[in-house]
Amino acid sequence: MHASVHHVKFLHPKGTQAADSNSHQVTHRSAIKSERVVLPDGTRPATVIVENGTIKTIAPHDYQGPCQDYGSLAILPGVIDPHVHFNEPGRTHWEGWETGTKAALAGGVTTVVDMPLNCIPSTNNLASLRLKQRSAGGKIFCDVGLWGGAVPGNAEDIPELVGAGALGLKCFLSDPGTAEFENLSAPHLQKAMEAIAQVNSVLLIHAEWPSALRGVDPTHDPETYEAWLSTRPVEAESEAVRQVVELSAQTGCRCHIVHISSPKVLKALEGTDLSCETCTHYLVFAAEEIGRQATNYKCAPPIRSREHQDGLWSALGDGRIQMITSDHSPCPPELKNSSFLESWGGIAGVQMLLTGVWTGASQRGYQLHDLARWLSEAPARLIGRAHELGSLAPGLTANMVVFDPEKECVCQTLYHRYQGSPYQGKAWKGEVVATYLRGECVYNNQSGHSAIPKGRLISNHP
Ligand SMILES: [Zn+2]
Repeated sequence: MHASVHHVKFLHPKGTQAADSNSHQVTHRSAIKSERVVLPDGTRPATVIVENGTIKTIAPHDYQGPCQDYGSLAILPGVIDPHVHFNEPGRTHWEGWETGTKAALAGGVTTVVDMPLNCIPSTNNLASLRLKQRSAGGKIFCDVGLWGGAVPGNAEDIPELVGAGALGLKCFLSDPGTAEFENLSAPHLQKAMEAIAQVNSVLLIHAEWPSALRGVDPTHDPETYEAWLSTRPVEAESEAVRQVVELSAQTGCRCHIVHISSPKVLKALEGTDLSCETCTHYLVFAAEEIGRQATNYKCAPPIRSREHQDGLWSALGDGRIQMITSDHSPCPPELKNSSFLESWGGIAGVQMLLTGVWTGASQRGYQLHDLARWLSEAPARLIGRAHELGSLAPGLTANMVVFDPEKECVCQTLYHRYQGSPYQGKAWKGEVVATYLRGECVYNNQSGHSAIPKGRLISNHP
């Protein structure tokens, strides 16, 4: 009777539980309720009944069985962040599985998908994917999926990467700045797309067209944000998207544009079926407020002016942008200094994804169900797991976050390896009270994380 539960195939890293608890096992039943459960058809009082890690049914609020009652706190589907850089193996001193996945859970994120670069080796072939899968064994507190890399000359590796569980491929069109991961030129991009279309996977693109990027203007003081911003114009994003759209139509490759920083880029996506994301930092920070030497705001594409930010919010409202990710990309503090040109780029934001987005969204009149749409449902589709993740519905995995939408607090401690995120020291709206993975409370804001990591590697198997 629970056959639908058990078709879910997980890889089993050492030290985590096997997924295929089958019918000879004891049935674990639990329930949580609140007056605001964010369901696919609306937010209402309800009880979520969980059996063996899967949502069994959505019962009325007056359900009489044993149940954890969260009063008027909101219960949302667990957040899926398909864009993080946890840097293990190889640069574990930048982040790592343990710190990264603990930060994720504390932010209500139950599934992350890790990017193929910044770890060493990059995840560009079967051996490096296997190495990364093994490196996660026994260390992951939330579920983790992996993207493979598409780099010049590895089109033949793509079928093997997908065959071994990669949820899709990621490429850069401009230089990512690490020696181990090269960007694709147009001919290589076409080759990669042809290979990906063959295996029916998806290509994620960092879309900045190198020839449209600008050199450093020597009249700019490198300690001002303008010095960085002026080198990465919106036109570089638009031009890259135009190239991708054309090749996608030619090859039939499904494409997704990561971290769009400006609504102007969306023009190039009009009338296509490509999906896209923006990131929390483009929605809650604006160029005008980035002070001298504040290089923890440096990322690419750059955070732009408030006008761009407003346009991104409208595009989320009408569906031109479907999802929001963190692009969590930390580095050790010694790689940042007072110069925007010398400092390593990247913002650590996985723990602030839900709270950051809600802070901006609630000010603009968006509702809790919009969060579920942008942070759970759409990313579940992107990673090909909408049949098991992304909403609170019977038959889906019971990943849930208990959220206090009215609570205001100043962001202080973050669980990732280094402090120094631009989110810190500022006031935010919305607090994660508890996070549930497969029906089990694995984090709460009073007692912290479960002692044992309960995360699993997820793959693309049907
Ligand atoms: Zn990234």
